[in-house]
Amino acid sequence: MIEQLVSLLNACERDLNKPIALHEPCFSGNEYLYVKQCIDEQMVSSIGSFVTRFEQKLSQLTQAKYAIATVNGTAALHTCLLIAGVTPNSEVLTSPLSFVATSNCISYCHAFPNFVDIDETLNIDPDRLKKYLDKIGHYRNGVLTNKRSNRPIKALIVTHIFGHPADMDRLQEVCQAFDLTLLEDAAQGLGSTYKGKPVGHLGLAGAVSFNGNKIVTTGGGGAILTNHKDVAERAKHLTTTGKISHPWQYRHDCIAYNYRMPNLNAALGLAQLERFPAILKMKRKLAEFYLTNFKTEEAAFLTEPRYAHSNYWLNTLMLNSTMTHQRNKIIEQLAAQHIICRPAWDLHHTLPMYEHCERDQLNIAESLSPRIINLPSSAELIHHVEQSFIATRSAEIE
Ligand SMILES: *Cc1c(COP(=O)(O)O)cnc(C)c1O
Repeated sequence: MIEQLVSLLNACERDLNKPIALHEPCFSGNEYLYVKQCIDEQMVSSIGSFVTRFEQKLSQLTQAKYAIATVNGTAALHTCLLIAGVTPNSEVLTSPLSFVATSNCISYCHAFPNFVDIDETLNIDPDRLKKYLDKIGHYRNGVLTNKRSNRPIKALIVTHIFGHPADMDRLQEVCQAFDLTLLEDAAQGLGSTYKGKPVGHLGLAGAVSFNGNKIVTTGGGGAILTNHKDVAERAKHLTTTGKISHPWQYRHDCIAYNYRMPNLNAALGLAQLERFPAILKMKRKLAEFYLTNFKTEEAAFLTEPRYAHSNYWLNTLMLNSTMTHQRNKIIEQLAAQHIICRPAWDLHHTLPMYEHCERDQLNIAESLSPRIINLPSSAELIHHVEQSFIATRSAEIE
């Protein structure tokens, strides 16, 4: 398996001393021009036209009615939780398999994550969610409450892991039955669609991230997506220090946050979004390349669920269960060949700050997550591997 992967990725002409990264940004459009314009116009901070242009472009690409740009994806998700009414000492259901920010945002609200198991798509399992709520949920004064902890359960955060959409219709059904607010951590999911609909605004609101390792980047940045006008207005207010709009007066009407994306980052981001459809195509092509050319008995390539189109943010190899103990060795051997792969994040309920949190049995998460290896997934990698692959193919034919 290692040899095959090395030969596939090394077939391309490349500097063998420069590692193939897990995920690198791709700057091939107006990035330099727009950032230079910001500097030339001395509009680098919280005022400037790029933020609005970035938001408009994002809303157009995602088909979300509203997009509110933020300093990062974590800030965007925190804001979503505040708007969903996640109050201190309440609980929010979520997956143990996500980047740590998902659970941290819950903690920022002085609330507690409550972990639900995943299915073979690596996303929250709607059936397990329902069974779990049947077991632990009861209504106290009309409020869904966890019988075991006596805390109200306010929301569900769904992460579309590695860009693969969760089964939103079925999750939404459970949320409606139990009167839970559905939020999406779509930090990894920009460009992914669920039954033809872009993810990120299928519930009340969702967060996307433009960190340097995401599918497109603003350096650091994020956004809140929603189709609800009141949510959008609240999001804008909470992320801009709660300042009442006025030509010169400074008056703030709530405790709020300095979460607005700076113009400089939005300039970089606008150039990235202009290239987004092309980048998305490259990402999907790279996934197809792995799927068709990398065949091993020892692992399976994770493909998009049948109801979805994935952006394949991180290409994922699922080791056979008999190979689990080999994971670290495989990652180290590939690193020695300058191919950077990564395991999944440690499950949240195993982290010291979350190990005492409420949770269902997490058998599937515990058995699948140690088998995950994320493969190099930079969009531009497709050009390198494709060229070399076509070259070796035609050499074989000759
Ligand atoms: C990247 C990421 C975040 C956080 O985004 P930042 O922009 O880095 O703050 C949150 N959740 C998930 C699932 C992520 O992958």
